[in-house]
Amino acid sequence: MTSSIPRAVVIYSGGMDSYTVLHRARREGYELHALSFNYGQRHARELDTAKQVCAELGIAHQIVDIRAIHGLIDSSALTDASQALPGGDYDADNLSATVVPNRNMILLSLAIAQAVNIGAERVFYGAHGGDHVLYPDCRPEFVEKMNNVAAIANFSPVAIEAPYLHKGKDEILADGLAMGLDYANTWTCYLGETLACGECGSCRERLAAFARHGLNDPLSYSQRPGSDEKAAASPQPGSDEKTAASQRSATDPEASADNSEGRRDV
Ligand SMILES: [Zn+2]
Repeated sequence: MTSSIPRAVVIYSGGMDSYTVLHRARREGYELHALSFNYGQRHARELDTAKQVCAELGIAHQIVDIRAIHGLIDSSALTDASQALPGGDYDADNLSATVVPNRNMILLSLAIAQAVNIGAERVFYGAHGGDHVLYPDCRPEFVEKMNNVAAIANFSPVAIEAPYLHKGKDEILADGLAMGLDYANTWTCYLGETLACGECGSCRERLAAFARHGLNDPLSYSQRPGSDEKAAASPQPGSDEKTAASQRSATDPEASADNSEGRRDV
């Protein structure tokens, strides 16, 4: 409370969007406290990446285990492993099944609590323009009203910051590249294999964003769309089986749509 450096909490999943938000908040001079949430993701690669990045940057980081509330939010295909994830490209019809009930209000509420707890004045999160159609809790109206509530819910007001609320994926990437960020330090793929699969919806969206900037994604992929080159980027010893497994699962309708990062990166 008496620190002269302002503090902020960042909801940081380990994906591209929140990685960019983390750095943006850092550049604004905040002493950061990053929060990642374990809500029973199908793999822990994003959380591992988040932990590693924060350790390297010297940012306080906490992985909050909210699996205990799984039974309250398990109607979504993202949180119910028994449901098939819808296939095809991102669109509202396909992916409405992936809306997790009240997700961002839950995560923001916990982050606001931690902000009050440590005397932080802001909570940053990675809602962006590409999510507005499908996810009500990524829309400007939601952010505005959560911000109003966060200002009065405690004796210490907290402001909600969503710096990319009106920006698309390409603009987030452009901002990160302008900051000199290395996106090899992020994890996007829905699958938790040694290398990103390059085939799932989230990998494809990410690769397309880099392609529109005329750049190669620095992340290692087992296969890039339109390329026969497999595991070109230094496969690790013993990864052949995993690579084959990821390619099999990438063609599995149940695994072909990814929403874990691009659409749900808060
Ligand atoms: Zn993938």
